[in-house]
Amino acid sequence: MLIVQKYGGTSVANVERIKAVAERVVRTAKQGNKVVVIVSAMSGETDKLINLAHQISPNPSDREMDLLLSSGERVTTALTALAIEALGHKAIALTGWQAGIITDSVHTKAKIERITGERVINALNNGYIVVIAGFQGITGEDGEITTLGRGGSDLSAVAIASAINSDLCEIYTDVDGVYTTDPNIVPEARKMEKISYEEMLEMASLGAKVLQTRSVEFAMKYNVPVVVRSSFSDNPGTLVTKEDKDMEKVVVSGITYDKNQAKITLIGLPDKPGIAAKIFTDIAKANLIVDMIVQNISSDGKSADISFTVPKTDINKAFKLAKDIATDLGAVNAIYRDDISKISIVGVGMRTHSGVAAQMFDNLAKHGINILTISTSEIKVSCLIEAKYTELAVRVLHDAFGLAQGATA
Ligand code: ASP
Ligand code: MG
Repeated sequence: MLIVQKYGGTSVANVERIKAVAERVVRTAKQGNKVVVIVSAMSGETDKLINLAHQISPNPSDREMDLLLSSGERVTTALTALAIEALGHKAIALTGWQAGIITDSVHTKAKIERITGERVINALNNGYIVVIAGFQGITGEDGEITTLGRGGSDLSAVAIASAINSDLCEIYTDVDGVYTTDPNIVPEARKMEKISYEEMLEMASLGAKVLQTRSVEFAMKYNVPVVVRSSFSDNPGTLVTKEDKDMEKVVVSGITYDKNQAKITLIGLPDKPGIAAKIFTDIAKANLIVDMIVQNISSDGKSADISFTVPKTDINKAFKLAKDIATDLGAVNAIYRDDISKISIVGVGMRTHSGVAAQMFDNLAKHGINILTISTSEIKVSCLIEAKYTELAVRVLHDAFGLAQGATA
């Protein structure tokens, strides 16, 4: 088999960990596989570099940031290749650009445009284990070094797996796989054997931090089988794959929460065409990511209230901007709250089962948890609630949908 193995920051955090990674990689190769390894920077390293830059400049240029941040992965790539060689196996370390990862020129969040994988394939055919730096690439036109956004090594791994037609892409991290919910909140949370791309996408973007969202989108689009597993054990992980009939039988697969939410409400806007368009165009131009949006029309039909959520980290910027726009448009008031969190239930089975949302609301109500905002998609129901109820809500829903170990839904 041709296998891509990606090791995250905690898996290459120090010399011991890197040696352990090398052993696993060599073991995999000795079982008769060709192996490509993608590594992250040592855990904490990227943050450290960002911090250094900010000590020097409040507004460091994106181009120089990319050059700086890409160095973290170069270090672990070279060390991992050396560790493999020390075990007596041929290895070659490549930077993202040496591996032919061509991106657009949006520094600090570049998109991969194509991968010219010949060098990797040639090295594999010559008996090398190829170790590639994650998170980085190079622009096609002028050879500028770019990075793919935080957590981007997952994307590097999936993209390379797809480019070289690998049979499997293993993402090694410090957890055993994808859980039905956060085991820190619910100790009975169960590791899933497999999960569909779509569910994983919802879980990833809803705050289950195991896989970077873009990497899941990429895997889904190009049908790359991904396994999330731990580099600290030999436990089998969770397979992220195409939806199948079994998955549909399970109504709710997982419960997620996101505490990084804040809600803005614009009160008494005129109810006429173009108001929402104006507000959200200006907000998008400021690069603010909006999640839930709810509009209510007043009972006399003359005015509208619009509520929406943004990441808590952007609330000051978003509120100031939204308030200014709303005032210009003749709104009565603007308010926000940031003591909230979003709880979601996710499952492809929702497509074929009814009453799932009602069951969620009912269970929250039974525990006195008030719902502030609701949004739904085909395979997800999300509720905004007061942040102090987050853990309780997660436990209650995990139980209600029968997700605990040994339970049958
Ligand atoms: N080192 C980068 C980060 O910390 C990329 C990654 O680890 O995936 O975001
Ligand atoms: Mg990561």
